[in-house]
Amino acid sequence: MTRMNPLLERNEQFARTYTPVPLGLPAAQMLVVTCLDHRVDPAIVLGLQLGEAPVIRNAGGRVTQAVIDDIAYLAFLAEQLFGRQGPADTLFEVAVIHHTQCGTGFLADPDFRHQAAEATGVPEATLDASAVVDPHLTVKTDVERLLTSPLLSPKVSVSGHVYDIATGRITTTLDATARTARAVASAIEEWPPQPEPALAEPAAACRSRSVSRACRIPAVGRRRS
Ligand SMILES: [Zn+2]
Repeated sequence: MTRMNPLLERNEQFARTYTPVPLGLPAAQMLVVTCLDHRVDPAIVLGLQLGEAPVIRNAGGRVTQAVIDDIAYLAFLAEQLFGRQGPADTLFEVAVIHHTQCGTGFLADPDFRHQAAEATGVPEATLDASAVVDPHLTVKTDVERLLTSPLLSPKVSVSGHVYDIATGRITTTLDATARTARAVASAIEEWPPQPEPALAEPAAACRSRSVSRACRIPAVGRRRS
């Protein structure tokens, strides 16, 4: 007997009418980053269906390095598997959604945070960085963090929103923006990629373990030409 039993029964019901979704780009061309709070389930709040949008959840819905790494990989995967169009096209939009009454808000209190750090072993600075006291402020911080990350593909845009636990409504704090307009513009200018006269030097750099974006972008272009 496990507490999963009633949920497994629900899964049995689900599987009876289930239709598998093939691997592909998210049908809604969205990726959601939000809090793990059980009152903030994007499938229910946003009415997401299977295959519509990947969802990344952590305490607060904060844009941590791990979240940035996941988004960078998903963009790379989407482009490699399904990126048949030019760089002017976007792969997906990332919606960062913070919410009111977030449980991470307690971490703004130094005493509470200190106790939490001692009990969990998580550094106080890490706990402090996950606190959402004013979701309108933290969502702006996190959208900015993602937009300024060099790991973010210019073909991925980012928007910021706040979910109100009291009303069930989501309001948009920041409209969708790409990493930098200049990055997108220069990518378009470079399309299709020109032959590279100084190929020997970049190719050597690209063989190193830390492959830079400068190495990867022309390589993708050459593959498709
Ligand atoms: Zn929360």
